[in-house]
Amino acid sequence: MRPGIDLRYCKGCNICLYMCPKQCFSRGVDLSAQGYFAAVVTAPEKCFNHDRTEKLICELCVLGCPDQAISWKPEPEEKEGKDGNKTG
Ligand code: SF4
Ligand code: SF4
Repeated sequence: MRPGIDLRYCKGCNICLYMCPKQCFSRGVDLSAQGYFAAVVTAPEKCFNHDRTEKLICELCVLGCPDQAISWKPEPEEKEGKDGNKTG
């Protein structure tokens, strides 16, 4: 799993940058449609949960974001079914 930021809710407070022990987030440089410099997930491969599908071992960013803007997204390869079919 990898963290993803919903630009509809992110207010660019950058708390996630300071909270993440693996420096997965960076400051945003582009204004979102809501008018904020939303944070960006620039290093999802560093996340403790990278390549995990069950029993996540860190959720600091998801739990700590004051706007509930961070949620889990499957790794790109997790979308592939056993036959290589896209599942979602
Ligand atoms: S903590 Fe949440 S609202 Fe603040 S920058 Fe990160 S994702 Fe955006
Ligand atoms: S789950 Fe933990 S390691 Fe992964 S991005 Fe969030 S705070 Fe960083």
